[in-house]
Amino acid sequence: MKSIPIYLFMDAMGWEIVQNYHFLESELPFRYPVQMQFGYSSTAIPTILTGKYPREHNHFSFYYYDPEHSPFKIFRYLKFFFGAGLHPHCLLNRGRVRGYISHFFAKWKGYTGYFQLYSLPYDKLPFFDYCEKEDIFAPRGLAPLENLHDILLKSGLRFHISNWRLSESENIDIAEKLLLQKKIDFAFIYTAEFDSFLHDHIFDQELIKEHVETYASRIKRFLLNLHTAQINFRFHIISDHGMTPTKSTCNLMSKLKALPLIFGKDYASLFDSTMARFWYLTPKAKELIQSRLQQADCPGYFLSQEEKIRYGIDFRNNRFGDDIFLMDTGIQIEPCDLGAKALKGMHGYHPLDKDSYAAWLSTHQPYFIPTEVKDYFTLMKNDILQLQSEHSSRQK
Ligand SMILES: [Zn+2]
Repeated sequence: MKSIPIYLFMDAMGWEIVQNYHFLESELPFRYPVQMQFGYSSTAIPTILTGKYPREHNHFSFYYYDPEHSPFKIFRYLKFFFGAGLHPHCLLNRGRVRGYISHFFAKWKGYTGYFQLYSLPYDKLPFFDYCEKEDIFAPRGLAPLENLHDILLKSGLRFHISNWRLSESENIDIAEKLLLQKKIDFAFIYTAEFDSFLHDHIFDQELIKEHVETYASRIKRFLLNLHTAQINFRFHIISDHGMTPTKSTCNLMSKLKALPLIFGKDYASLFDSTMARFWYLTPKAKELIQSRLQQADCPGYFLSQEEKIRYGIDFRNNRFGDDIFLMDTGIQIEPCDLGAKALKGMHGYHPLDKDSYAAWLSTHQPYFIPTEVKDYFTLMKNDILQLQSEHSSRQK
């Protein structure tokens, strides 16, 4: 009898949380810590959907230096409107207004992927391009690589992949309904609300416990409903990273600004919350930036080439930065290009920190134990191929 693979992706349901809060221990007894993909969900999800490292799918942090192909050239003219957008307190820099501008810009350009301007200054935008213009879950969304959707289409199986634009409760309800109606042979359910919850509440253990219990009871009900309907399935929870409580912050941007260098002429930089990335346009910039950031008031270090290769982030032409400066665990860059204020919790620190680990939780023993998030794809693909061969042998 065929067994339906169900993968529930839970953003930020890291190994520390699942162990500390005994999340679904008896229902999902096959549990393994999984090393996160270096970077953020913006690189982990493409890795999960293709089984390839970032160096191959070319998704890392959303923004990268490319003034020639920048779609944001129009923002260059904003300053001529009485300096609009240049001051941080300008109306155009309010969070909600930036949200609207992001929305309209994406619509205008026909982007189908997740798009956000975050806090990137308008005058810096024309130096950058953005990597998630396409919906990465859609067919050909990570072309020329094959993504999960492509291999499912090719398999001829009946499947469901959640719409990431819907709420997580909608996504769980929709998948459950399709399974109960016996309309699908494979499900990939996407949820991401736990991530934003943990960013704000990582220090509130009672609230986390409550939240984890709410998830646990919904999933227990989901599993029970499938059992009652006599559906044979294998259920897996997969996550992309954990959440590190913030210990302190560091204003790395101000240290860089104090150097006698001109942005766009000597260098370009992008400050994510846990790493700063630099493109050196002159040898002087490389020398000054490297020596400044190696001083004791900059708590972090420059990734070595060997580390970049190990984590699969050694990009052709150093697309995402000639140098990546990673902050020490728990120390957030404040302000950064993603936001003016540090959050209570953050991910994207060193993959070997205990709070960085993702988790694999399952009703069944996987055919090999995933050690890094890239492995989820191999496991999903194996399930698909197996179902496909069962399907074709039944038809013969
Ligand atoms: Zn997050």
